[in-house]
This record gives sequence, structure tokens and C-alpha cells, in this order.
Amino acid sequence: MLDREGETVARSRPVPALSPEATTPSATLDPQDWGAVRRQGHRMLDDMFDHLEGLAQQPVWQCAPDHIRAAMRAPLPIEPVDLAEVHAGFRETILPYGSGNIHPGFMGWVQGGGTPVGMLAEMLAGGLNANLGGRDHMPIAVEQQIVAWMREIFGFPSTADGLFLTGTSQANFVALLIARTRVCGSGVRTGGVRAGDKLVAYASEGVHGCVPRAMEMAGIGSDNLRRVLTNERGQIDLAALRRQIVRDEADGFRPFLIVGTAGTVNVGAVDDLAGLARIAAEHRIHFHIDGALGALGILSDELAPLFDGIELCDSLAFDFHKWGQVPYDAGFLLVRDGAWQRETFASPAAYLTRAKTGLAAGEWWPCDTGPDLSRGFRALKTWFTLKTYGVRALGHAMAASCRLARSLAERIAHEPDLVLLAPVELNIVCFGYASRDALDDGAINARIVERLHAIGEVAPSLTTIGGKPAIRAAFVNHRTTEADVDRLVESVLAAGGDLLSRA
Ligand SMILES: *Cc1c(COP(=O)(O)O)cnc(C)c1O
Repeated sequence: MLDREGETVARSRPVPALSPEATTPSATLDPQDWGAVRRQGHRMLDDMFDHLEGLAQQPVWQCAPDHIRAAMRAPLPIEPVDLAEVHAGFRETILPYGSGNIHPGFMGWVQGGGTPVGMLAEMLAGGLNANLGGRDHMPIAVEQQIVAWMREIFGFPSTADGLFLTGTSQANFVALLIARTRVCGSGVRTGGVRAGDKLVAYASEGVHGCVPRAMEMAGIGSDNLRRVLTNERGQIDLAALRRQIVRDEADGFRPFLIVGTAGTVNVGAVDDLAGLARIAAEHRIHFHIDGALGALGILSDELAPLFDGIELCDSLAFDFHKWGQVPYDAGFLLVRDGAWQRETFASPAAYLTRAKTGLAAGEWWPCDTGPDLSRGFRALKTWFTLKTYGVRALGHAMAASCRLARSLAERIAHEPDLVLLAPVELNIVCFGYASRDALDDGAINARIVERLHAIGEVAPSLTTIGGKPAIRAAFVNHRTTEADVDRLVESVLAAGGDLLSRA
């Protein structure tokens, strides 16, 4: 505050003692006693292993009590506190009150479970503190190796390139910008999108909310995303899409992007990807796939046929941090032609001058192919996960989640008080409590889910199907078993019965 009173207030505030002589004799933040930090580090690691090993004995989620929240609200730390004490605070106020996605009973939303291997790799990456914006060093080669493996897995040509991003929300946005450059030319970078460009994009009604938001962020506007009807399996209706494109072309719009979904967030539907590729090719439209949830399912022989045609898309976004079980965050974008990325993002900057040799060398600088300059080493935890487990085991875990979903659907079919509300295409089951005595508005489902979260044994999430509340179980976590499915069915029946008897 710059008013007269504010001046006196500012003067009366205590001035933090930050001068070096008031703290440590040297400015370095490294320990004076490495042995002590090492011992404490081992304790922290062991403690986390204990936590992971005993997950099933803990609640999937519990609400942090007021005294815990109050303990978190502390003044800005001016003076140092012993690492052991900070860690004790973590154990008390953070560790027991996570969101539960690592727990076997977690079926809410679509979230990965992580692995001990991923955790260890994340620690190594933290120690290295590599910046993956560019330059010539081996961490960059690790990310390139992941790109090469993804080209192979998804059947992309050698021209294809890619990079890690925070998640599929960002990867979809980056893909949209690439599609925009392809249709408008790189002049759109300086001139921007003009009203007369009349760009329009297409996706199904089941499209994830980050796609309309990407339209907004790109300055094209979410009104220019056409949401095409879906069929009874939740897939985009190809005939309706074709009609819409033809109509738009006749009306002077410029269709520039079709977004197919490989695993819709609400019900797990996979669009007819080969069919979309054909339409995109006929109309010369960039074909992007949002495979956040499902695309890595291609690693399972059993699931792979669902993704036929994925190799035909122009760009593919997916998340290692969901079904790939890599710790957050690890989104990825694969692009059919790396030149499209450079046309969209590369820009000369004096401080990023390249050299033929030395640290400033290297052909592959991710800051040329995406929006970020400083980037962390997401590739390392992914590299460790792929190498340590092997892609076959990861594929098995994904097929197992789909089996759990089918088994839940069968249980629902045999329970007179439960009803399946959407077809089970992949690993997501939407259902409801439907006792003869329950009202048909689905409101009880919302209350059942709240009740289950409070009990803390299993945690499904809530969605709406046909405008009514539905219980949604998404099987993503590799730790979830049939016993958790049983527990879910029993708890829903018990909670539903109890709520009805009280009503
Ligand atoms: C999760 C998800 C997203 C968003 O991905 P983030 O990694 O959370 O940014 C986009 N699309 C689908 C289909 C998703 O399931």
C-alpha cells in the first residue's frame, strides 16, 4: 500500500533477517554434515516404502481434520528447521491425507497408482536436476529414446517427433496449435487468427473438457468446436460428422481439426479411429487423437484391436501418469511430422544460440518443438518404468483393469438393486442404485458416493449419465483387485439400503 498510513504500517513490520551473517557462514545450501543428511534420507525412503507396503491397511481417503489444516497454516519460515523435523511434519499432516489414488480401493476419476520404481526414479531426477529444454546431455537422449519407443509402439513414421508435457490437457492444446499452423501457415504466429479465417474443429459429445478449453486458449473459441452426436456405444457418429463437415465447408468455414477420443473420460468409449482417419484424409483435416486414458492400452494384445487406426492420426496425446502408472506428471504428445512442431514453436533467441560442438550443441532441443523452455526430467521416471517392468507387464495390468470392469458389470447384472447405466467398453463402469423403492432421479447415487468416501474403503466417483447422477468406477490402479470390486458392490448395496430405510 502506498498511502500515507501504509508507509507507517510497512515501517513497523519486522524485517526478516536474511543477511548471510545472520544465518550460515557460506551461501551454499548443501549440508555441512553429509552423513547426517544421508542417514535422514534413508529414513525418509524407508518410511515411504513402509507406507506403500501397508497401503491396503489404510483408508483410501480421509478428510483432514481441522487441527491438521490449522497446522499447515504457518508463518513464512525465516529461520532453518531441521530436515528430520520437517519430515515429521510431512508424516503427520500430509502423508495420511492424500487423495488416495495410490490405494487399491481408489476407483474415482481416471488416475494412475504410481509405482515404487517411479518414485525412486523421481528421486534420482530430483538429484540430477536436469533441465530438458535443450543442449547436449544424456537426459535429452533419454527423452529422445522415449519418443523413439512411442513411434514404434504406435506405428508412426521416422519423421515423427514428440515430447513430454504436463498432461494430455497441455498435449491436446499443443496439438491444436500445430493443426492451426498447418491450416493457416506459420504467419498465424505473428498475425494471429482472423475472424475471417472461420476455423472449426470437430469432436464427439464425449470429448474431454480440455479440448473446448484449448479452443479458447488458442483464440479460436469453444463455440467453434462442433460436438458431434455419439452412437449407443459412445463413439462419434461418423455419418453425422461427415454431414457437418460438408455443411460447414458449404457455409465458408474452414475445418482444421478432428479430435478422436481413445477412451472417453466419462464412459471409456473408443471412437472408430480408422473411420475418422478416412474422413480427415478426404477433407484434408488434421486428425488428432486424445488417448489420455486409453491409448497405452495398445500394449495389451487383448486390447490392441480396439485402437486400430491409431497409427493413422497426425498427432496423439496420452498420459503415462494414468494407465502407464508413471508418477505425476507425465503427459506426452506424438506428432507425425516433427517439422510441424518446429513451424509452430521454434524461434531464434540470442541466449539460446546453438554451437556445432560443446554443451550448446545438439540437434534436438524440445524448446523448439513445444511451448516450454525449462522442462523437468519426466522422461527418467518413464524410462525406468518401461525398462524395469517391461511393456508386456504394463499391458497385462491394463487388461486386468478391463477385466475388473467387466466383472463389476456382471455383478451389477445379477444384483436386482443395481443397474448398469452405460456400456462397458474399456475400464470404466457407470451404474446406479435402483431399488424398486428408490426414486428414479438418481439423487441417491450422489449420497452413496459421499457415504463411501467417508467410510474410506473404496472410492468411486460421481458423474451424470443422461443428466442424472451416476456412480462411476474407473479401474486404472494396478493395485485394485476383485476383492475391491466385491467391496464396492457390497458397500453400494449397504449404503443404498441404509439411505432408503432412513428416508
Ligand atoms: C484425463 C484426461 C484428459 C486430461 O489429461 P490431464 O493429463 O489430466 O491433463 C484429457 N482427455 C481425457 C480423455 C482424459 O481422460
